[in-house]
Amino acid sequence: MTLDTLSASPAPIWDLIIIGAGVSGLSIAQDAARAGLHTLILEQDCRIGGCLHSHRFTGELDGFWLELGAHSAFNSYGNLLALLESAGALNRLQRRAKVSFRLYADGAVRSIPSQLYFSELLLAPFRWLGSSKIGRSVADYFGPIVGPRNYRAVFEPAFSAVICQPAGEFPADSLFNPRPRRKDVPRGFTLPGGLQTLAEIFAQQPGVTIECGQAVQEVRRAGHDFIVRTNNGEVLARSLCLATPVAVAACLLQTGFPALAERLAEISTAEVETVGIAVPKSVLQLPPVAGLIGRNQAFYSVVSRDVVPDERYRGFTFHFRPGVLDAADQWDCIAQTLNLPHEMLTTANVVNKTNQLPALRVGHGERTRDVDRMLAGTRLALTGNYFTGVAIEDCVIRSRQEWGRLQREIG
Ligand SMILES: Cc1cc2nc3c(=O)[nH]c(=O)nc-3n(C[C@H](O)[C@H](O)[C@H](O)COP(=O)(O)OP(=O)(O)OC[C@H]3O[C@@H](n4cnc5c(N)ncnc54)[C@H](O)[C@@H]3O)c2cc1C
Repeated sequence: MTLDTLSASPAPIWDLIIIGAGVSGLSIAQDAARAGLHTLILEQDCRIGGCLHSHRFTGELDGFWLELGAHSAFNSYGNLLALLESAGALNRLQRRAKVSFRLYADGAVRSIPSQLYFSELLLAPFRWLGSSKIGRSVADYFGPIVGPRNYRAVFEPAFSAVICQPAGEFPADSLFNPRPRRKDVPRGFTLPGGLQTLAEIFAQQPGVTIECGQAVQEVRRAGHDFIVRTNNGEVLARSLCLATPVAVAACLLQTGFPALAERLAEISTAEVETVGIAVPKSVLQLPPVAGLIGRNQAFYSVVSRDVVPDERYRGFTFHFRPGVLDAADQWDCIAQTLNLPHEMLTTANVVNKTNQLPALRVGHGERTRDVDRMLAGTRLALTGNYFTGVAIEDCVIRSRQEWGRLQREIG
């Protein structure tokens, strides 16, 4: 059933329309479909997954993949694991090989311990005890605990690498939230074909209909229902869930929910210029690494495929700071960092993507509480990576909370 046929037939109405087929949209769809709701996901792209984006090469590199977005999931992602379990897919998890992150600074790869000032770290456990993250930025919270030199030399670059943006002003309580770990699954895992396979598993669940190539342009109220306008026509829904990046949600809600749109528009977005490269193993001298953390570099991080070793190739994904290097200079930087002859970079083995992540700031909790107050009593749901944190598990938690609320609203 396509949107064209839907818009031509007399007033078909979906129980739930979800905008965006990233992990947030797909996870709310799992619960809704299981509860018997006639659920449609509209995705603008021709690919599902959003930031779960495993590039799968063709041609000579056929069979090799690398991550252009999220790369790691952990046994502390209990909600994600519960959904995978319900989908009968827990046995598909693939353990990540144990390799370490290194720092890349002053033109060389360095071990992390070699960059630490241990004298400053001695009192860290005592400073950490009783210190609260609430209302404090990453710099304000972690800086005094680890000491200013350690923070500058290792921790700030490492945190920036984790969230792909300058970490200093990010709220400390949106980073590294401790969660119980499941002992029956690997501590760090991916899936065959990369994390995008997660999205593909969720998309195959019975009752979930996905329409790709449907860019939603506007949502309006129609009494208690919703009209969703896409590039191909209009569709109706009794309940609506926006699972897009926050800037898109703010735009789409402008007409029907202006106050909500205004509050969401206060959240900034950080862009990341991502470049992935696959190269034959034989041309590299770099020992296996989980990735490189850039200190004072044009990139936040270089994420490696060495966690899922391949017989022939290695893959590296550079997450560049936006607007610092043009495409040619990014290629120079890649060649220099990996110590590769420049001619090893071609359009066949290099892929590009622009990623977006919310740039959360201290005080964000008050904003999301406001957003939740405005949503209360409506059959409009909002989910995504701009609530408690940006990790995959944060998205799934938000989706499951919104599903719980929506169920109560539907009655
Ligand atoms: C480079 C990078 C590395 C990361 N690494 C990790 C990691 O290792 N571990 C981890 O836990 N998390 C990681 N994250 C964070 C995590 O991947 C994301 O926060 C999460 O996947 C976001 O999911 P989402 O569904 O909320 O949004 P998205 O993945 O952005 O999905 C939103 C979807 O909405 C669609 N859409 C947008 N506008 C429209 C429209 N108008 N109409 C229809 N569809 C629309 C988009 O095409 C997209 O498919 C990383 C993120 C990035 C960018």
